[in-house]
Amino acid sequence: MNKERLKSGLLRMGIEADALAMDRFEAFHAILDEYNQRMDLTAVLSEDERIDRHDLDSAAPLSHGLLAPGARVIDVGTGAGFPGMPLLILRPDLRMTFLDALQKRIGFLQDALARLGLSAQTLHARAEDAARLPEHREQYDVAVSRAVAGAATLQELMLPFVRQGGLSIAFKGPGLAQEMTAARRAAFVLGGTVRAVVDAPIPGREDWAHVLLLTDKTGQTPKAYPRRAGTPGKKPLGT
Ligand code: SAM
Repeated sequence: MNKERLKSGLLRMGIEADALAMDRFEAFHAILDEYNQRMDLTAVLSEDERIDRHDLDSAAPLSHGLLAPGARVIDVGTGAGFPGMPLLILRPDLRMTFLDALQKRIGFLQDALARLGLSAQTLHARAEDAARLPEHREQYDVAVSRAVAGAATLQELMLPFVRQGGLSIAFKGPGLAQEMTAARRAAFVLGGTVRAVVDAPIPGREDWAHVLLLTDKTGQTPKAYPRRAGTPGKKPLGT
């Protein structure tokens, strides 16, 4: 792994990574490669692309100071651990929960966490089901999610996990502008208020316009939400 590319990219984002974090990134990449040889875990990218698209992209909330020390964070639809794993590697103080509907990805994450010496909770479930459990409903300071669904659907998959006063951070691309009306309406129904859309550029990659959609949890999510598994995607609120 090109540690220099990762370290300098992070520094340009205002994020310092110590030697242990850099070693853990390197080990995580090796574990990803190992698994990718036997299962379809994540798209195979060149090393530099992986650093840019996965590691630096995932770290964006840290350059905006959005995660308080010891914050309880859930990564909804984490896949192979993005953005949750880079965030945890950089900030092992976070109390991270990795949620995904696919068991093979959760199994991979459990193995990776053990081998990296990191502790976190893993949860094999649909977001719609997990958010109805008292131990997860409105229990998180922050929910993060990347590449899982459209913005209005994401509001329903994320906001029910967030405590009042907490924050939802959805990683989005340039198409977000067209989704904003529905995303605002959906947030309103779910006890949220869209705060802002902030730029999340990847250093040296001006070809990618990435943003974070920030939604504050200003009220309680009504009991009717999230709707049953699949419905938030098929009939997004606010559309
Ligand atoms: N967040 C990762 C990333 O950015 O690389 C993975 C993105 S992948 C395209 C979408 C992931 O979301 C898949 O692993 C899928 O199983 C998971 N997913 C989709 N809908 C979900 C739901 N309703 N509940 C839990 N996981 C879900």
